[in-house]
Parts: sequence; C-alpha cells; structure tokens
Amino acid sequence: MAFEPRHLPVLAGLGLQDAQARRVTYLRISLTDRCNYRCTYCMPSEGVELLPKPQLLTFEEIERLARVFLQLGVRRLRLTGGEPTIRKDLLELVARLAALPDLEDLSLSTNGELLAEIAAPLRRAGLQRLNVSLDSLDPERFLRITRRGRLDRVLAGLDAAACAGFVIKLNAVAIRGFNDDELGDICRFAWERGMIPRFIELMPMAAGELFVPGELFPAAEMRARIEAEFPAAVLVPATGSAPGWGPARYWRLEGPGVPARAEVGLITPMTEHFCDTCNRVRLSSVGGLHPCLAHDDATDLRTPLRAGASDETLLEVVRQALSGKRDGHWFGIDGQGGPQKAMVSIGG
Ligand code: SAM
Ligand code: SF4
Repeated sequence: MAFEPRHLPVLAGLGLQDAQARRVTYLRISLTDRCNYRCTYCMPSEGVELLPKPQLLTFEEIERLARVFLQLGVRRLRLTGGEPTIRKDLLELVARLAALPDLEDLSLSTNGELLAEIAAPLRRAGLQRLNVSLDSLDPERFLRITRRGRLDRVLAGLDAAACAGFVIKLNAVAIRGFNDDELGDICRFAWERGMIPRFIELMPMAAGELFVPGELFPAAEMRARIEAEFPAAVLVPATGSAPGWGPARYWRLEGPGVPARAEVGLITPMTEHFCDTCNRVRLSSVGGLHPCLAHDDATDLRTPLRAGASDETLLEVVRQALSGKRDGHWFGIDGQGGPQKAMVSIGG
C-alpha cells in the first residue's frame, strides 16, 4: 500500500489513531512461538520450525517497546504466545510490566496447563486477568484437540486461578461436529464458577492448511444452540458489563432458571466482523508489529531497537506501521484470502 500523508495516524490527546480514526489502546504481546500443546487448528503436530532463541525479544526489549506503546496511548497489555507460561522467568516480566505507569490492565492468555503451579505467583506479580482456553469438558476430546493436553491439569489450574482471585474468561473455539454439543455445558461450568464463557469462530489460519476435526460453527448458530439449551430463555445484547476490551461481543441469557450474571462472549471474525471497532495491534515474539490478525502485514521493530533507535524513532516507526492497518478482513472457510501465518506465531 502506497504511503500518503493522509494515512499518518494522529495523536489528538485521545491516543493513537489509525487511518480510519480507530483508537489503538490495546497491545497483545507474544512471548514465544513455542507451546506445550499442539492444538490442531493452531499448530502442526510435528515438524514445527521454531525460531532461534536469540531472535526472541528480551524482557528489556519488551519493556522498552511497551513504554513506547504506552506513550502512544495504549493502556492495556495482554501476554500471549504460543504458550506464554513456558517462557522462562515470566514472573519477572509480569512484575516489570505491572509497574509501568499509565498501564490500566495487564492480562494473559494461557492453555492452563501450568496454572496450578503459577496462578498465585502470577497474581502476586501484578497480573490482573486471565483468559484460559478450554475447548471441551470431555478428557478424550480435550486430548484430541490439544494433542497433548490433560483436562484434569487445566481444571486444577482454573481452581488455583480462582483461589488466587483472578477474573477469568474461558475461551472455546466452537467447532461443528466436534464440540458444538458442549456450548451449554461450558456455559454452565463457567457460570457456576463466576467465570465468563466465550466462544470463538474457527479461523482457517495458515491458509487453511491446519487439520481441524470439524467445521466452522457460525455465531448465529452458537446463539441458537445456547438458547436451545436453556428452554424459555433468550440471549440479549449485554452492554458494558463484562470486563475486557477485546473483540468479543457479549450477550446475556435472560429467563426462568437462568443463573445471575449469565453472560457469554462471542468472537466472530468469520461471520460477524468487528473490524470497525478494532482497537488492537499485536507484537510477535520476534518484534514484528502486526496491525491485523487476519493479514500477514508486519513491521519489524526489533531491528531498529537493536540498532539503538531513540524513543522518537521507534514512535515514528510505530505510527507509520499503524497507518497501514487495514480497514477490515475477509477470508473464506477454506482459508482463501486469509493469512499464511499460523495462530501460534502471533498469539490469537
Ligand atoms: N496458548 C494460549 C492459549 O491457548 O490460550 C495463548 C495463545 S492461543 C494462539 C490464543 C487463542 O487463539 C486460544 O484461545 C486459541 O483457542 C485461539 N486460536 C488458535 N488458533 C485458532 C483458530 N485457528 N481459530 C480460532 N481461534 C484460534
Ligand atoms: Fe498452544 Fe494455545 Fe496454540 Fe493450543 S491454541 S497450540 S495451547 S498456542
């Protein structure tokens, strides 16, 4: 895309805006491209080419870039991966980021495998919120989709995280023919524990190359399925209630016999786009700034960083990268038009 002055993002006292005047307030930072699971929609089972460790941003580099983004108006940071909990000395990084002035929210996405051990220390280090992936409550299905995951470990991790006082969201990729019969059970499981269930439409990342045991289950069918599980109840849009500033749209189940605060989030990049309200950009583990999950565009921040760039130079590189943030995305269920990158390389 040719660069034109009109694309320059503006700092209007409101924070960083892109060319469509969307305010970018939320940065997702991938800490690693490695993972202790091999979820079928996210990573190949074998032959994964891992990035050499010296290419990964160091904690000093992550903190420096986080400060730059905070100067530009970002207020929320989420740590992701790959699996962020396998990054050595994660607690040290959390403590450093939690101490940054102007940061309003620090959260982490995890598969939950290691949470039983580290939930309490993470909370003490200053982490505020957790998103935990949980695609199935059936141990065999869980193993099938994650290829390595043990459901009992994740459930123990969730207990530990709840005891540590975390606000927790449960993320399930809804897949037709695999777990579309579990939406009601996952909602009940979450609501009984004061957690917020969220269902994600399956995205054909890596140009649709990854194996998935089923198909896209669209948002409209998710809503119909949840309502069918709770007779006489209806889902109504919930505004301003569930904490978080991400891509999910929240719905509240209302009707007889429904628990209090029965809210559910739907993340619908395939059938109900949310690009016009997108407030996010992503930093890969090697310092690539990705303005959109669904496009392969990226700007290398590590090279100027390691070449000794000043804060002003980095600010300008980020502003220019933001000027190229696309208006929206489209990709077909076969992966056509979608990104070549796999989710594990950028963090979802
Ligand atoms: N390892 C952590 C986890 O699993 O939560 C963080 C990284 S993971 C890439 C972040 C989220 O992306 C997870 O909730 C995962 O289910 C989701 N995800 C991965 N591949 C996906 C795909 N192809 N379509 C939809 N969601 C996907
Ligand atoms: Fe690992 Fe998360 Fe991808 Fe599963 S979704 S393979 S846990 S990075």
